[in-house]
Amino acid sequence: MDRRKKTVDRAGGHLDLTRRDALGGGVAAVALSAFGSLAGGAAGLGIANIPAAFAAATSHSFAFGSFEITVVSDGHMMIPARLAAPDVAEADRAAALAAAGQTGDMAQPPTNVTLIRAGSDLILVDTGAGPNFMPTTGRLLANLEAAGITPEAITKVVFTHGHPDHLWGALDDFEEGPRFPNAAHYFPAAEMDFWMSDDAEKGLPADRANFVPAARRNLKGIADKTQRVASGDEIVAGLAVFATPGHTQGHVSLEIAGGSETLVILGDALTHPVISFAHPEWRPASDHVPDQAVMTRKSLLDRLAANKSRIIGYHLPFPGVGRVEKRGTSYAYVGES
Ligand SMILES: [Zn+2]
Repeated sequence: MDRRKKTVDRAGGHLDLTRRDALGGGVAAVALSAFGSLAGGAAGLGIANIPAAFAAATSHSFAFGSFEITVVSDGHMMIPARLAAPDVAEADRAAALAAAGQTGDMAQPPTNVTLIRAGSDLILVDTGAGPNFMPTTGRLLANLEAAGITPEAITKVVFTHGHPDHLWGALDDFEEGPRFPNAAHYFPAAEMDFWMSDDAEKGLPADRANFVPAARRNLKGIADKTQRVASGDEIVAGLAVFATPGHTQGHVSLEIAGGSETLVILGDALTHPVISFAHPEWRPASDHVPDQAVMTRKSLLDRLAANKSRIIGYHLPFPGVGRVEKRGTSYAYVGES
């Protein structure tokens, strides 16, 4: 894996703001306004109505081949429900949301982080949102601790992409250094190139250009420990990344070989338990390259159903473990628990 030996030390040269400018409350305000402006105001993101159910289960473990898998909750997001498919007829969207049990204006998609024990390695897939994204996210550390895992115990961190809910937990509370100080970090090369490019802002939905400086700050903070990975690269024997672009330019998913079965950690290649499966052609507002995301969803669904793969979805109902079933010309998510 020669590619993985490369580092991203050059990343720092692209930063154009001081770290202090974007720390603390400023970041939270920026993040909330990005969604709030689409919801008709940040007031719509009030946290008074968080269901108590989200506080219940925070981790879920199972064995897969020689691997031990634990899904650990980072909490959940609060986003306008219409963003799951903003450009379809309201009645069609409402019916799909209702089929997923969603009836209000706001959706509360969970954020499910996967932890993999592989021999002596403890591998985290994405780092959650950290303290500066939304009041309802950033629970990963507490929930890891509840499962008996310290940040120092993590030996490898693999990222699916650079969105806030996946990357902003990479640094410690003071953004002084990596949150997982003993871990080798792996970031998709094409995704790195996107976020660090001079015109990255043009590659995001309009209201989210402010994700760019925060992504760069996190990438810079872990640069000394980060190796670039590309489709087909193995992190450890039996655990490989593969390209699933469209949600973001360099998005990857992970595949684990467990004997006759495969387990695919989707990241955000499939995000909604009904819409992503029954209507893969609908375009969520969060996709950076919508046409490519549609193609990726369709080919991925076909492959996952044909292979009878088990899947873990970052935003599927906690713990997000299940399978894909073909239903006529469409597909369905079948959760395991
Ligand atoms: Zn996400």
